[in-house]
Amino acid sequence: MDDFLKQLPDLAKDTQKQNKRFFAKLRKKPPAKLDQLMQELHENEFSRTDCLECANCCKTTGPLFTDRDIERLASHFRMKPGKFIDQYLRLDEDQDYVLQSVPCPFLGTDNYCSVYDVRPKACREYPHTDRKKFHQISNLTIKNVAICPAAFNIVEEMKRRLPNY
Ligand code: SF4
Ligand code: SF4
Repeated sequence: MDDFLKQLPDLAKDTQKQNKRFFAKLRKKPPAKLDQLMQELHENEFSRTDCLECANCCKTTGPLFTDRDIERLASHFRMKPGKFIDQYLRLDEDQDYVLQSVPCPFLGTDNYCSVYDVRPKACREYPHTDRKKFHQISNLTIKNVAICPAAFNIVEEMKRRLPNY
């Protein structure tokens, strides 16, 4: 996994143009069974991926925190939401709450998430490869393939399985 993670930014750069063309076509005319295909590819990839050997998403990028995430995490720490925000979060350029710094402060040295049961919704759903209408988040996916080895593999498999795109 370590070697793959080191190579991932370059691999993502090499495939970026192809991925942009692929997703542009996909957005114009998504295949009828795209949701079904994404479920299959996601399940296959994550059945052989051990996120505990990776944690690259938690180390290099963080989730957006919704109001409900903030309330849930603040309550977990028995803090007021405002205190939680002051301690851990900042507003980004889109006025969304994000982590003040990465790696995520809730990530342990063993790659376990110390707030797993109450983690933000975006962490639960990352890298979003099993979401419905996957073609609608293509810009985010093109970014995610440089961070997440599983997302990279899933997009490569998508291209193999949808050769006419
Ligand atoms: S979701 Fe992707 S980046 Fe995050 S730990 Fe799993 S494989 Fe790594
Ligand atoms: S809250 Fe947990 S899952 Fe989310 S980025 Fe931090 S360590 Fe990773």
